[in-house]
Amino acid sequence: MVKTKAKKSRKSKKNNANWKKFWRLGLDEFNTQNFDVNPNGDLVVKEGYYQYNIMDIVRKYGTSTEVFFPYILEHRVRDLMEFFNAYIKILNYKGKFFYHYVMKSNQNRDFVLAALSEGANIEVSSANELFLVKRMLEQEKFNRKLRVTCNGPKTDQYISLIEELRGKGLIVIPIIENAEELDRLKKFKGEVGVRVNLDVKIDSHWDKKYNHFGFDETELMKIGKIRNLSMLHYHISTQNEKIEGFIKPLKRAFPLYAKLKENNPGLDTINFGGGMAVPYEKRKKMISVKNLVNQMIKTAKKESERLGIKHPNLVCEWGSYFTAPSQISIFKVLEEKNIAKKADTKWYFIDGSFICNLTDTWSVVRRKWHFTSANYLNTKRLQKVWLAGSTCDADDRYTASGNYVLLPKLTEDMSDLYVVAYDTGSYQYTLSNNHCLLSKPAMVVCQNGEVKLARKRQSADDLGKIFGWNGDPKKL
Ligand SMILES: *Cc1c(COP(=O)(O)O)cnc(C)c1O
Repeated sequence: MVKTKAKKSRKSKKNNANWKKFWRLGLDEFNTQNFDVNPNGDLVVKEGYYQYNIMDIVRKYGTSTEVFFPYILEHRVRDLMEFFNAYIKILNYKGKFFYHYVMKSNQNRDFVLAALSEGANIEVSSANELFLVKRMLEQEKFNRKLRVTCNGPKTDQYISLIEELRGKGLIVIPIIENAEELDRLKKFKGEVGVRVNLDVKIDSHWDKKYNHFGFDETELMKIGKIRNLSMLHYHISTQNEKIEGFIKPLKRAFPLYAKLKENNPGLDTINFGGGMAVPYEKRKKMISVKNLVNQMIKTAKKESERLGIKHPNLVCEWGSYFTAPSQISIFKVLEEKNIAKKADTKWYFIDGSFICNLTDTWSVVRRKWHFTSANYLNTKRLQKVWLAGSTCDADDRYTASGNYVLLPKLTEDMSDLYVVAYDTGSYQYTLSNNHCLLSKPAMVVCQNGEVKLARKRQSADDLGKIFGWNGDPKKL
């Protein structure tokens, strides 16, 4: 009796490990190392010895819900800073490394504070994002050594905010992108940066022939002196999956940097922008960041020595690399439907939308996502599905580019099935919308073993108010 029991539990442990692998969970190379399947077949997320059962969150907060895990973000920031600082030491590089959290990738307070707690600086893309930095400063909880780089069009409002924060002792570096901004920032007393549109082609999502950001190389070389110039900035692309895609632009930037430095001796930093890829699809391994950092420092050192210049400081502005894997989104399967002319696949309708909630699916980058269910992860009865969103739009669907998503088959004896989308922590919430007046999801934060509601799901009343329905039934 005892014997069979032991045998059974060993077997069920093995089964769990198989399920985990099947759903591509628990794998470092796909950033799912914290995800696991419990013996019940529910999705659990581990934080050291703490464990969050996603179905508990669903039962308490309903769907659609986004769940943020600050420790995942913190870990990633810490690792990157450690890699850079370690290779700077090993390779005897004389410049410093600064990581700037990319506010536009997720402006939620919980995200920003998690990054800051690890020593991240900040990059903002608009006056409104800088306004949030001002808010943080007013709370007097922040060390004023925090450095802020400012991208995006420098409107009057933006420039006066930059000046105001500089006056309060913060290092705020506007990145000049064109002749107009150069002129408007002529009298600015603090450090400034300049953005160059590097003439390099790399193999990645965004490699457009015409780029409206920054100065062209020749234009930049003609400028000569820029008052208080300290930083040369470039940002090449997003979802860059190759080492070459980072090394090539860095090599290209060095001679420009050296040339600029001749007229601008205060220039001491190269900011290599964002673009590190995230393994959204969980099919192929991404490049090793550790190896990349090693090669970047080696390249920077070699190029500096070749050009006879001091080793520059390096600034990194990777956004989605940190924010995307630290959040998942959960939806309920509302119903299923046959697909005419595709007998082996069914529609699963979800209580959210690709257009509203996972907007990159159909717009900006045509993202593919990884999906599992949140429950029944140990079932052998699986179904090929296409996911349908809740808006009236024919585009509101996810077919994995005509392929399929594998999920548990809906059966009579099952209660509700929940779908989880992974790596949803970057850009999606600000890109999201209320098409068909759907609600934006709730946001829940899991940290130190505790689960808290950070943002309520939008209610019909919230939405009505945005559109001028003031909530008084007698006053239309
Ligand atoms: C968007 C952006 C980033 C971040 O890009 P990711 O692809 O999320 O890493 C960094 N720097 C600038 C200037 C950007 O516009």
